[in-house]
Amino acid sequence: MEIKEILKKHGFVFKKNLGQNFLTEGSLLRAIVKDAGVTEDDTVIEIGTGAGTLTSAIAEKAKKVYTFDVDTALEPVLKETIGHLNNVTLNFLDVLKCKDIDLTKIIGEEPFKVVANIPYYVTTPLIMRFLESSLPVKSLTVMVQKEVADRLIAEPDTEDYGAITLAVEMRGNARITRTVSRQLFHPAPKVDSAVVHIDIVDDKIKVKNKEFLAKLIRAGFQMRRKTLVNNIGATLNISKEVAKQTLVSLGYNESVRGEALSIDDYAKIADALYN
Ligand code: SAM
Repeated sequence: MEIKEILKKHGFVFKKNLGQNFLTEGSLLRAIVKDAGVTEDDTVIEIGTGAGTLTSAIAEKAKKVYTFDVDTALEPVLKETIGHLNNVTLNFLDVLKCKDIDLTKIIGEEPFKVVANIPYYVTTPLIMRFLESSLPVKSLTVMVQKEVADRLIAEPDTEDYGAITLAVEMRGNARITRTVSRQLFHPAPKVDSAVVHIDIVDDKIKVKNKEFLAKLIRAGFQMRRKTLVNNIGATLNISKEVAKQTLVSLGYNESVRGEALSIDDYAKIADALYN
């Protein structure tokens, strides 16, 4: 039976506020699993089970899938679509609100890949939730609004470049693997999407203190039109004079803006300012 018929049979009502736009096309689902680089050795955490279409495609390739949704009204649908898959565990739980320790109790300690097609308003918190955790995440493959995808992979000195771009660069390498037309969702949302794959690289950026680097990046984008020196002076406990001297001693112009600097620049400046 087709997914749309199964949903209808169970009287499922789509909830707009939970971003319930489901993917049904087999070739696209398989392509997303390929983008995620899922192999038979992988444990995968899927966020946003929906009707279980992507879950089934992941389960075909992965060793084990832990899938999470918040809408228990999906339960009868999912019993029918993924209930027979013995490498899938379904959980009704908000991973964003769940502590690392509680997540580990469910999934164990093995490294895992994250695959997510969730509402657009939770994509950035979700990406940050895994980037900032000490959980053994190998990669994140996330369906996001096209505009968010552009921000995740932006280059310095462009409008899209921001603190989220650098948060990703601190932990790994991101790329857009495909754009997805709104017509491929059921029901169709108002915007087009893109799949972003982030490979996590252990100790990608080596600095004296990672928290300080994150603070410096946030300061750098506090007021985009201000210079980095002014933003440091206004938000960190460091005088503008010290900030200026440090930047100049490292070979930067004293009026450089945060948006012009790469992750390596930020790392260099963070190490020089941190004591
Ligand atoms: N993965 C499915 C697909 O590709 O068809 C469903 C995608 S649909 C865009 C998003 C799903 O995320 C919905 O089923 C919704 O109930 C679920 N969801 C919404 N907020 C969530 C959250 N905080 N944690 C987990 N799932 C959530």
